[in-house]
Amino acid sequence: MKAMLIDATRCVGCRSCQIACKEWNNLPGEQTEFFAAKGYQNPRDLSAKTWTLITYNELKVNNRFEWVFGKRQCFHCQEPACATACPVRALEKTSAGPVVYHPNLCLGCRYCQLACPFKIPRFEWHSPVPKITKCTMCADRVAAGLEPACAKACPTDAIIFGERETLAAEAENRIHRNPRGYVHHVYGKDEVGGTCVMHLSNVPFAELGFSPNLPRRSLVQHVQHAMQPIPFLIAGLGIALGAISWIVNRRIELQEKEQQQCPQPTHDSPQ
Ligand code: SF4
Ligand code: SF4
Ligand code: SF4
Repeated sequence: MKAMLIDATRCVGCRSCQIACKEWNNLPGEQTEFFAAKGYQNPRDLSAKTWTLITYNELKVNNRFEWVFGKRQCFHCQEPACATACPVRALEKTSAGPVVYHPNLCLGCRYCQLACPFKIPRFEWHSPVPKITKCTMCADRVAAGLEPACAKACPTDAIIFGERETLAAEAENRIHRNPRGYVHHVYGKDEVGGTCVMHLSNVPFAELGFSPNLPRRSLVQHVQHAMQPIPFLIAGLGIALGAISWIVNRRIELQEKEQQQCPQPTHDSPQ
C-alpha cells in the first residue's frame, strides 16, 4: 500500500507543495490573509479550494527559536471513518492507499465531516450544488505510477512517497539515527488504526495543530454503530417525500377535474 512520509524538520516553508496541489488538481486561488503576529500570508485553513496547507509557527527548539512548518492534508486512513460514515459510498478506500471520493454520488449530507477524526473534509459552500472535497493523494497520478504532485514539487524531500511499510521503517530509522532531532513518535503510524500519511517532527505534534490524543484503534466500529439508523432515516425520508409528492399531484389532478366540470364565468361575457 502506498503512503507519504512528511518530515517537518526538512520543510523550509516554501509552499511549493501547496501550489503544486492547486496546479495539478485545477483548484482556484483564494483570498489569503496576513498573519501579522507571524509575518506571513496564507489561506486561513483548508477549504474546498485548498486541499493542503503549510502552517507556520516560531517555536522554541533545543533552547532557541526556530520556524517550524506543518503540512495539513487528508491522512488517507487505513480504515477511514469518513468512508464508513458516507451513506452512499461517495468516499472509498482504494487498495493502492488513497481514500478517493466520487462527487457524482455525494449527497452533501456532511456525515464524513463529522466522522473524520482529523477534521479534513471541506464543503463547497460557494457552490449551488455543494459537495465534499479533500486531498485525493493524487490518486490519478498514483494509478499512473507517479508520485503525488506535492511530493514531486518539494525541493527538500520533506515529503516522500513509497510503500507504507518502507516509509514507516525509514521514519523509525531517522528517529533512531538522530534521537535528539525528533520527537520519538511517528504520527499516523498507529493513530486510528494507522494512516497512509505519516509525519515526523522535532516539536510535539500538538504544536503543529495535530490532535495529540487519538486512540490507536480504528474508529470504524464506533462510526458504524452511530450510522446504523441512517439508511432507515434516508429510506424514511424518501418514502415521506414520495408521499408528499403523490398528495400534491393528486390535489392538482382533482382541482383540474373540478375546473373542467364547472367552467369559471368569464369576464368578457356579452353585456
Ligand atoms: S483523514 Fe479524515 S477524510 Fe482523510 S481518510 Fe481519514 S477520515 Fe477520511
Ligand atoms: S497528495 Fe495530491 S491532492 Fe493531496 S495534498 Fe498532495 S498534491 Fe494535493
Ligand atoms: S514543498 Fe517541501 S519544503 Fe516546501 S513547504 Fe512544502 S513540504 Fe515544505
